[in-house]
Amino acid sequence: MAQPKRVPNLVYSDGSSIICDDPNLLMSGRSGFDAVALEAADFIELPEGSDLFELPGRLPIGFDKKTGALTLCDKGVAVAAQMAPAHTQLYLSSYTKKEKDAPTLPLFAYTAVGWLDGKYYVPAVRIDADIRQEPKSFDQEKVQESVKNLIEKFPDNRLLQHIGYNCAMTYYCPAARNFFLNRYEAPIPTSPACNANCIGCISFQPEQESIQSTQDRLTFKPTAAEIAEYTIDHLKSAPRPIVSFGQGCEGEPLLMWETIRDSIREIRKHTQLGSININTNGSMPEAVEKLCKAGLNSIRVSTNSVRKHIYEAYYLPNNYSFEALAESVKVVRKFNGWASLNYFVFPGMTDDSDEYEALRKFIRVTDLSMIQWRNFNIDPDWYLERIGVTDTGNILGVKKVMDLIKKEFPHITYGYFNPPIEVIKEKLKPALI
Ligand code: SF4
Repeated sequence: MAQPKRVPNLVYSDGSSIICDDPNLLMSGRSGFDAVALEAADFIELPEGSDLFELPGRLPIGFDKKTGALTLCDKGVAVAAQMAPAHTQLYLSSYTKKEKDAPTLPLFAYTAVGWLDGKYYVPAVRIDADIRQEPKSFDQEKVQESVKNLIEKFPDNRLLQHIGYNCAMTYYCPAARNFFLNRYEAPIPTSPACNANCIGCISFQPEQESIQSTQDRLTFKPTAAEIAEYTIDHLKSAPRPIVSFGQGCEGEPLLMWETIRDSIREIRKHTQLGSININTNGSMPEAVEKLCKAGLNSIRVSTNSVRKHIYEAYYLPNNYSFEALAESVKVVRKFNGWASLNYFVFPGMTDDSDEYEALRKFIRVTDLSMIQWRNFNIDPDWYLERIGVTDTGNILGVKKVMDLIKKEFPHITYGYFNPPIEVIKEKLKPALI
């Protein structure tokens, strides 16, 4: 992807969605609490399919081109990018709150963005070459037609109705839309409940909270028969097929492990094709072991941190410990399955030297297969305040951490999506699950 010749100009919004650049100011990026200078090599063009947000009550911070001084821009409000899937942010949007009571930002990622020579640029990397969620690849008319056809074919399947009407047609969920286009990774939400209380949970926020969840949580418990009814065909007929438990519109799938186990058994009676994956908080290693025995191929464990105190301050777990995450990964690797970390990237926290050391240990202890470097969808100030962080430590830089980990653990795959079975088999050969 093309890089700019120099650091882009700062951009601001007039508050009614008109975005301008300030030719006198270079943009800065945010790391932890600080506005920092960036280099041209940090940038890529804003990926197609990304969104730009104006950040109410927040003034952007840049560097004066003449003096080099850190300067507040009071011409408009700060702007941030929510990048298209497959891209990882290196720096956050840099701003200061103009009003003390500026509203908490909703649960999206707030990547820095600037403008140069007629293009927007973001400090980011394309972390995954997979095109499975490329925005332009979705034909919504075909999705709607397929929703109608499949629901007519399986009229009693509540799960199909949920992922059709709710996920594919209301929330435009890429996984659900891909399922209805008969390709790639298909979603299987299963759990209305959770055993954690994440501050930034996207499927449930308490009424008294200042933000709303971005999705409504599943309200029923599907049966193994409902799951098998649509996933078997998908595994048999889709290109690079994966079926994935654990979605953004539910709680924790491991709480439904018996149903999941029964559905995996049923699926595998009919086909050995494709991959069966679970996206989870990794809280129940014993349940993970049962699922591996039934035929689970891969796991993706989500976390904001591999440091216990940072994890627990955010996840607020009920009746499980941080150590369960590593145990769940180890169990899957013991069965020679594929184990990914869904690592929420927050510049200034993810690249803290203590976090880096903890990540090295986590990889060594668990024999992790992959890191999915995904952007943390959260208001940066709200997050740091809610987990009680008042100062950041020694910051290495997100890109540098990526490079250091790759150098030390060359076998670790980097990406954004769960890999299909072809990739898993290639990377885990010769012993296959
Ligand atoms: S583990 Fe997932 S569903 Fe549970 S509280 Fe956290 S984000 Fe929400």
